[in-house]
Amino acid sequence: MNQRPVVLIVDDEIANIEMIGAVLEDDYEILFARSGNQAIEIARKTKLDLILLDIVMPGLDGYETCRLIKQDPKLADLPVIFTTGLDSVEYEVQGLAAGAIDYVTKPVQPVALRRRVGNHVEMKQMRDRLTSLAMVDPLTGLGNRRMLEAALEEEISRMARESQWLSMILVDIDFFKQFNDIYGHLEGDKCLQAVAKAIGAVMRRGSDHCTRFGGEEFACVLPKTDLAGALHIAEQMRRKVEDLAIPHAGSKIGPSVTISSGVLSRYCERGMTIPSWIESTDKLLYESKNLGRNRVTGRVIGLI
Ligand code: GH3
Ligand code: MG
Ligand code: MG
Repeated sequence: MNQRPVVLIVDDEIANIEMIGAVLEDDYEILFARSGNQAIEIARKTKLDLILLDIVMPGLDGYETCRLIKQDPKLADLPVIFTTGLDSVEYEVQGLAAGAIDYVTKPVQPVALRRRVGNHVEMKQMRDRLTSLAMVDPLTGLGNRRMLEAALEEEISRMARESQWLSMILVDIDFFKQFNDIYGHLEGDKCLQAVAKAIGAVMRRGSDHCTRFGGEEFACVLPKTDLAGALHIAEQMRRKVEDLAIPHAGSKIGPSVTISSGVLSRYCERGMTIPSWIESTDKLLYESKNLGRNRVTGRVIGLI
């Protein structure tokens, strides 16, 4: 289903909200707020495509609201158009300096407003598409390392706020260099795709993240999952890959492709960093390699 873009109209006067809403309601999902604070609250909770912002309002005025939106890394990309009765070049310049993308004076001209909103929403959606493409690994369709780092950053702070367990699994294909040497790079790519699919299929919670970390390594982030839960998932992955039974004549441990993993679980608190998570999980992966491969090694580690 194609969802309509969402536009937030912010104005302290209901009559203005109704008038602008009537111009846009055929093409957009319309939300409204009566103050700057309410607008910011809605923007943090809802996925918006554009904000139409009044300038003169009691409490936070439009300029200040716009600055706060632009300072918030999660909202900074959101296009803001001022819709205001303040009709002078100075006010307009001040609005653009606050970070707005456009400036429209009231009473609004319906056709022009529809066009402007349409153009800015289209550009915003194009930027969103490019951003998400930049986070996808084209070979496997999984998220890439950028996606992993974004997911880790988000989940580390979310789990710290909620005082929850977070787990990470690093997966590495065993003797993959030999696989490429024997079967060629194209077969290597197919193997990577099959392993990615098998690993991804094990992660069933919507909040789990499965990414290609680089080369023949995959990284999974599992919010609200303790060591027992994460070990269970990693073991299922190991078995699923073994069950694929992809022939591997160069493997020193068996007839087919296998994976080794490291599993790190931590009870989250403030101060944890992305590098500490990755380094510690990597050490556990290398324990699996040193212990003979085709296995899972997991541990709980406190604040590092
Ligand atoms: P280990 O069991 O210790 O993990 O050994 P390994 O051979 O798997 O590890 P190593 O790091 O020595 O080699 C990884 C290989 O993965 C080297 C490279 O040729 C291969 N590789 C990395 N990215 C790709 C890719 O996108 N496609 C293919 N086909 N191969 C890749
Ligand atoms: Mg490797
Ligand atoms: Mg390897």
